[in-house]
Amino acid sequence: MSDKPNIASLSGRKKVVSNKKMTFMEMIYLPAIIGGFGITLSHFFKKKVTLQYPEETKPRSEIYRGMHVLKRDDEGRERCTACGLCAISCPAEAITMIAAERKEEEMNLYREEKYASMYEINMLRCIFCGLCEEACPKEAIFLTDRIVSSDLHRGDFIYGKDLLVEPVDQRIDISHRQTPEVLKFKLDKNQSHNS
Ligand code: SF4
Ligand code: SF4
Repeated sequence: MSDKPNIASLSGRKKVVSNKKMTFMEMIYLPAIIGGFGITLSHFFKKKVTLQYPEETKPRSEIYRGMHVLKRDDEGRERCTACGLCAISCPAEAITMIAAERKEEEMNLYREEKYASMYEINMLRCIFCGLCEEACPKEAIFLTDRIVSSDLHRGDFIYGKDLLVEPVDQRIDISHRQTPEVLKFKLDKNQSHNS
């Protein structure tokens, strides 16, 4: 009895090839070439799928997970308290930060007593899973629908606070990415989380 596994029974796609002699037409390849041109020609009349990026962009889902934002509160103070939960929850180990203690004169800059003096995300490591957003207890980090730009140098993909913290005068609206239940919860100032 043969030890060879029965491949046909596994895939059902077993194909027996023969080495029969080629016909004259097969030897001159002409029908195959004409057939190939026919396929190419048929694609001229089909709808184009190629987009002229970046002039044209493809519509994306409302919950598309792109570049992160570090949010400020209503008074413009950075919400992040450098607790490190986002970094710990990150499966790609893409987040690094250094914590610092807020000084008396910095009350208008940072919401909490501790803040991130340095915060970096390595966008080449990030897999845009959103776990950092879910882990954050301060509503400080969110993924947005912004695309991370392409670049030629690896170092340029390390995004620091200059790129991540939202500008005071150009707030980034992430409310459309929240469920109605979460939005309602955030409006409740009786929750210590929101005060
Ligand atoms: S989206 Fe995921 S991989 Fe990217 S920084 Fe956040 S937790 Fe890490
Ligand atoms: S972004 Fe949120 S989870 Fe990450 S360090 Fe800041 S407060 Fe903590």
